[in-house]
Amino acid sequence: MAFHLTFEQNKCKGCELCISVCPKQILGLAEATNIKGYKPAECKDESSCIGCASCAKICPDSIITIEKDE
Ligand code: SF4
Ligand code: SF4
Repeated sequence: MAFHLTFEQNKCKGCELCISVCPKQILGLAEATNIKGYKPAECKDESSCIGCASCAKICPDSIITIEKDE
């Protein structure tokens, strides 16, 4: 089972909450800044995602979407 994560990166404020709750520790901040001047969160290793949705649930701005790959 594989999952695909989408971050609305320009809405991210780089609070790192999603990074802190990911049991697989595959989230991190991007190198480049978004339009708000924050480094947005991104997934560094999507193939290791277990689809637990902890990241999406904790994000205060609900900008993470998790889809199951067919
Ligand atoms: S769904 Fe779970 S395993 Fe996947 S990135 Fe989010 S917190 Fe990590
Ligand atoms: S919890 Fe949301 S706002 Fe905070 S770093 Fe993660 S994606 Fe960005």
